[in-house]
Amino acid sequence: MHICLVTGGAGFIGSWLCEDLLKKGYKVICVDNFITGAKDNIKRLQDNENFSLIECDVSKVLKIDGKIDYIFHLASPASPIDYQNLPIETMLVNSFGTYNMLSLAMKKNARFLLASTSEVYGYPEEHPQKETYFGHVNTIGPRSCYDESKRFAEALTMSFRRIHKMDVRIARIFNTFGPKMRKNDGRVIPNFIIQTIRSEPLTVYGDGKQTRSFCYVSDMVDALEKMMFTEKLDGEVFNVGNASEISILDLAKMIRDLTKSDSEIVFKPLPGDDPARRKPDINKAKKMLGWEPKIDLKEGLRKTVEWFKAH
Ligand code: NAD
Ligand code: UDP
Repeated sequence: MHICLVTGGAGFIGSWLCEDLLKKGYKVICVDNFITGAKDNIKRLQDNENFSLIECDVSKVLKIDGKIDYIFHLASPASPIDYQNLPIETMLVNSFGTYNMLSLAMKKNARFLLASTSEVYGYPEEHPQKETYFGHVNTIGPRSCYDESKRFAEALTMSFRRIHKMDVRIARIFNTFGPKMRKNDGRVIPNFIIQTIRSEPLTVYGDGKQTRSFCYVSDMVDALEKMMFTEKLDGEVFNVGNASEISILDLAKMIRDLTKSDSEIVFKPLPGDDPARRKPDINKAKKMLGWEPKIDLKEGLRKTVEWFKAH
């Protein structure tokens, strides 16, 4: 039986990934310090004999006995509110944490996948963003703790590959959403859904013309697994996300319509360095992984709204 270690396994994407890996017959070791994750996310996995949890900070040295075949390194705050509240922890987990996990992968001869981000492109001046784009990042702005530490994590991952000939892969994850997002993590979809449930105004930042491209979480899990388990992708970087782009104002209207809410839309100041447009070019993933998203935004939102209402 193959063994997967998932850092950040109690987070939003990580908990979905752990559950799916168990379903597919892998043994899963989840490593998390719950800084932005939740015990509830993995509660029903804990009865599974193939699941184990190590509660610790991966920025500190971690010793694990026994074999590990695959390491998915997802540990890192991901929501702008979270990483701006936890800038030093974010930089530590993406630097020391990534170093520790790469060292562990080297010791265990395990394949390593880094969960990177579209934020490595910063405030992009190229549209849509291809993997070959070098990005446009403000090194001292409010997003820099996340953007620069993820860029460092990518550089460190490629350095381990060059020096130690390790099998590594880098996933540049674009906005992902779905059930199990924290209702107060500050990201736009949980915010809008909670606001409609509470009949509060929907808070659009800026004029709402900025765009994002939202991927449903089960499609993301599928992409991460294909990236990890497809042979001969050593050293490859993939954009993974949904390529269909929507403005934030249209998203607010869509969520309002779906929930049949009569909440008004109010406009609030745009946070600093908030990218005006973001959309992945996913042609490389389509071609080399045979992957593309299956769940469109409306369908994903319906599932997410249902979950938030039930919780
Ligand atoms: P999340 O905050 O829900 O999950 C992150 C998990 O990592 C949490 O469970 C948290 O407790 C854990 N963690 C953080 N620091 C840790 C540490 N030092 N030691 C151990 N555990 C630690 O976020 P998410 O949305 O699930 O994101 C998962 C990964 O995907 C992150 O690396 C993020 O950068 C990347 N990503 C996510 C998105 C998205 O839209 N969700 C977009 C781009 C990239
Ligand atoms: N946003 C918004 N209202 C909110 C939360 C976010 O208008 O209540 C905007 C935010 O300014 C950004 C977009 O929605 O332009 C996506 O924000 P999110 O925090 O989800 O992630 P980002 O893509 O910025 O990392």
